[in-house]
Amino acid sequence: MAGAAGMTGDGLVSAYADDAERDAEVSVRPKRLDEFIAQHRVRDQLDLLLQGAMRRGAPPDHILLSGPPGLGKTTLANIVAAELGSGIRVTSGPVIERSGDLAAILTSLAEGDVLFIDEIHRIAKPAEELLYSAMEDFRVDVIVGKGPGATAIPLDVEPFTLVGATTRSGLLTGPMRDRFGFVAHLDFYSPADLEALLHRSARILGVPITPEGAVEIAGRSRGTPRIANRLLRRVRDYAEVRAEGVVTLETARAALTVYDVDALGLDRLDRAVLTALVDSFRGGPVGLSTLAVAVGEQPDTVEEVCEPFLVRAGLLARTPRGRVATEAAWRHLGRTPPNGTFGMEAPAVPDLFSNAPDPP
Ligand code: ADP
Repeated sequence: MAGAAGMTGDGLVSAYADDAERDAEVSVRPKRLDEFIAQHRVRDQLDLLLQGAMRRGAPPDHILLSGPPGLGKTTLANIVAAELGSGIRVTSGPVIERSGDLAAILTSLAEGDVLFIDEIHRIAKPAEELLYSAMEDFRVDVIVGKGPGATAIPLDVEPFTLVGATTRSGLLTGPMRDRFGFVAHLDFYSPADLEALLHRSARILGVPITPEGAVEIAGRSRGTPRIANRLLRRVRDYAEVRAEGVVTLETARAALTVYDVDALGLDRLDRAVLTALVDSFRGGPVGLSTLAVAVGEQPDTVEEVCEPFLVRAGLLARTPRGRVATEAAWRHLGRTPPNGTFGMEAPAVPDLFSNAPDPP
């Protein structure tokens, strides 16, 4: 069976990055708040928070950044440190296995440092509890020894600012969330924002780009800066190897056809799911596992890799009776939607929200 990696190819429209990609991203990563594109509300609020803290000469409140991957949480954490003129320590929830690991980091922070914890919802419980006292009182109790002889040794922590990032803010415990004085949610970017981002990145990479070229790439980037930058790098390769080195509408289209990223930013597996739904199941409703078998994938892959974006793009609906292709999906595949309804029964969208019992 083709695994997730097989069907999703090189993950060109995945919002996640591996280490090599993170390295490639460094050159275009904004260093200061005024270089950070869009997200004006969050930027404005952060600006006030940081300026206020600097006036008082004290670290700002702890900051929680939530939102899907690739929207700029790590970038903002680094910007916070840069704006404050502070050092930054970077770690992540899954890496902190024992509370001792976290205690070691906390007690080595210098005054005013930023501690960035990515995926903070995945931090182990004992470490989370240690973090509470560090965040609140700048103090941690390190337990030495075991059993009845164990003693707690209180250690001071220099005043610091925690920047936590999470893709799943719903999984954070109440006490954890309460300890952040500032919480910001990052939203997907509009095509116009991504165009601005692409022009900026192209300038830094030294690759000429036309306005139409930027529009074309932005439209296929799923509202996500990481994907926009990645597609730009691929189109640049194409432009340099097979064209005149300029990112135009034509080079963007030709390159993204080579890489199997369609006009809405769907890749091969996304399209396979929609095509199966429309052609094999007349638009649904069909159960997840049946749909997954039809495309030769694991149900988890279909559900976690493909569906979130298909749902957000209004192409697929999850109903109590199964997955349904929307009218937009039929049209996107160049098919004529069935008359008046999608699939075999009632329109998909009201199903999602109605409290009416399922028809027999
Ligand atoms: P996250 O931590 O949310 O997964 P990152 O901060 O790593 O996302 O951002 C992914 C890439 O997208 C970064 O390399 C950065 O260059 C770019 N990026 C994200 N947001 C912006 C923005 N608002 N302006 C410019 N570039 C951005």
